[in-house]
Amino acid sequence: MSNTGFGEWLWRAPVLVTCLWLAGFAGTASADWYRFSDTAMTTPVELEFWAEDKALADRVGQEVLAVFHQVDEQMSRYREDSEVSRLNRNAANGPVTVSDGLFQVLDKAREVSILSDGAFDITFGSVGYLYDFRAGKKPTEEELRSGLPRVNFRDVILDRDAQTVEFRQTGIRVDLGGIAKGYAVDLGIERLVSLGIRHARLSAGGDMRLLGDKRGRPWYVGIRDPRSERRNAVVLPLEDVAVSTSGDYERFFVDEAGERVHHILSPETGKSVQGVQSVTIIGEDALTTDGLSTAVFVLGPAKGLEMIERLPGIDVVVIDDQRMMHVSEGLVPPQTD
Ligand code: ADP
Ligand code: MG
Repeated sequence: MSNTGFGEWLWRAPVLVTCLWLAGFAGTASADWYRFSDTAMTTPVELEFWAEDKALADRVGQEVLAVFHQVDEQMSRYREDSEVSRLNRNAANGPVTVSDGLFQVLDKAREVSILSDGAFDITFGSVGYLYDFRAGKKPTEEELRSGLPRVNFRDVILDRDAQTVEFRQTGIRVDLGGIAKGYAVDLGIERLVSLGIRHARLSAGGDMRLLGDKRGRPWYVGIRDPRSERRNAVVLPLEDVAVSTSGDYERFFVDEAGERVHHILSPETGKSVQGVQSVTIIGEDALTTDGLSTAVFVLGPAKGLEMIERLPGIDVVVIDDQRMMHVSEGLVPPQTD
């Protein structure tokens, strides 16, 4: 007999309500991987993270992508009203007070310049602005000769206590293209952490940082074959690190002599550095890995590896112009015998 009386329905009602409530909860609270992308700092920005629900994910996505536009407004040398442009206009006339963020980036830039013996030098901008890679334009020997005396990171004087910056001569142009994206990625990761996110991958062009793992497995990060759009030269399983790649394939043109003119310049000659196709640095924070990837590119495989081996917690993969791969000791697979 299956005669369900009214009394029994009453008894079952709370169970039914609970089930309906759970179903409704599952509908809005969808823990999942969320992806957002944008263009900022003249580069694609990509964000992927695990969040407990869509409303939170949307808020996180918006806030983190906004960071890149803020840093662009602050640090782009292409914007007349950026803090960096103001610095470039005024710092030869006396000390200029700068924001915490800009001071932090300038301070790290100086550290990387000293480590690399000037291979990394943000005052390369004093000749860098003479190039237009999209228009296929490069400076004449004459223009380089007159600009090079103003390429010297030692002429940018930082006063940590006063948080001011002064240029020791006129005509200096600081360009943070080799380090500002790493700073923005670190800020983005800070924002993710403050919003309670534990697993994320955030990248701006060649600068990436991983927060945690991919929930039980590592993130797989491909280092692109510098001469192929689609192929990877190597794929590394990683978690909780920053990874920056500098390549000669990002912004370049081939000149009348058949030489590849690209965006990483030797502060000594003012010309594009030859001998390397790409450099990838793995380290703790993206501000450091971004600066170092450009530095090692300029130094070349031998000196570049030598510098990296002196730095604890930092590893490097260099692909040279013969397509040979050079890796630091931390990446050499253990011998099995
Ligand atoms: P990407 O911008 O493709 O991520 P990098 O981090 O290597 O690659 O930065 C390259 C940028 O660094 C150039 O576009 C330029 O703005 C800047 N740059 C070029 N040469 C130097 C140098 N010798 N020292 C510091 N910055 C440089
Ligand atoms: Mg860099």
